[in-house]
Amino acid sequence: MARLEIDRLTKRYGDFHAVREVNLDVAEGEFLVLLGPSGCGKTTTLRAVAGFVEPTSGSIRLGGADITDRPPWKRNAGLVFQNYALFPHLTVAQNVAFGLEMRKVPPAEIAPKVAEALRLVRLGHLGDRLPRQLSGGQQQRVALARALVFRPDVLLLDEPLSNLDAKLRQEVRIEIRELQRQLGITCVMVTHDQEEALTMADRLVVMEDGRVRQVGTQQELYERPANRFVAGFVGRSTFIEGTVDAVGSFRTAGGLVLRCPAGQAGPAVLALRPERVACATAPIAGGENSLPGVVEFVSYLGAMTDLHVRVSPSERIVAQIPNRAGAQVPDVGAHVHVGWPAADGIVFPAEPDAAGQHQGVA
Ligand code: ATP
Repeated sequence: MARLEIDRLTKRYGDFHAVREVNLDVAEGEFLVLLGPSGCGKTTTLRAVAGFVEPTSGSIRLGGADITDRPPWKRNAGLVFQNYALFPHLTVAQNVAFGLEMRKVPPAEIAPKVAEALRLVRLGHLGDRLPRQLSGGQQQRVALARALVFRPDVLLLDEPLSNLDAKLRQEVRIEIRELQRQLGITCVMVTHDQEEALTMADRLVVMEDGRVRQVGTQQELYERPANRFVAGFVGRSTFIEGTVDAVGSFRTAGGLVLRCPAGQAGPAVLALRPERVACATAPIAGGENSLPGVVEFVSYLGAMTDLHVRVSPSERIVAQIPNRAGAQVPDVGAHVHVGWPAADGIVFPAEPDAAGQHQGVA
């Protein structure tokens, strides 16, 4: 276990910036998750830590030592990838032992270390099997044992669960997290799955276009997203374009006037979390904002229902209501009111270079 410090990491392929000036500080024993859409630079960042990508500039320190120029096998980083990459002709125990043999660990020490690693991932009884005789979840646990067997300073996980079915994924998530806590190992995981990131992380890093857009705990990212991208990527938001003034009055592009937190005056975007928006047949009392509208789309989600409510010719707001026993869910075409307290709106200055992106509900 060790602290991992990434300082101004940049990776260019020709003119293309895969990673731009990324700074990250991962504490000893922390579980950090890199989250972002496909192509945002997550894997490149992780592979630079592992030593498989040579940074264009910047530095990486592990346990205080500069490892930027070290080859992968001298970094003491354990790796688990999406495709487990087990040797098909070797048994489970031989797969786990392989890394130790490559590191010239004395043969007498190998068997106990392998047994301990397999015990940790609860596969102690399957050491003699071949990978094809295991389920996907078991194979992934072998990959984990193989990464843990040499007691790495940092564990690097690249979409480790994406080949597993949904139920198994939930189980293995918890297993990995408990094991990581038990061993106190510093861990960086890459995923594009929001739920996975929220379940597993101590802190999350949201990336876009090779840049870090925000670092924080789940709650920080959800309650105080730093920008429109994060508000759309972590949880969902309805985005409304308009102009805000200094006293917290928001004039929408569609001509509505809404109350919002006071901020810097000028072109802005108002983000509303669907579960913070109430929906009723009468005006919303005491909500500071209450707008009449028409339900245009109803989406039943089990525990909740999303109602897409047209509030102006160019604007729709999503309200999410809990599905309680006996509760009436409005039908498409119903005349309703949506409302929310001013403080629940999140206002971002308009981002000119992002114009046209992330329109509507993300
Ligand atoms: P995904 O979730 O799809 O794996 P990611 O966020 O992990 O995406 P990266 O694999 O880090 O993304 O890639 C970041 C960008 O760098 C992508 O646009 C990718 O096409 C580009 N890239 C990655 N490797 C190379 C390479 N060897 N040569 C050129 N471009 C590359």
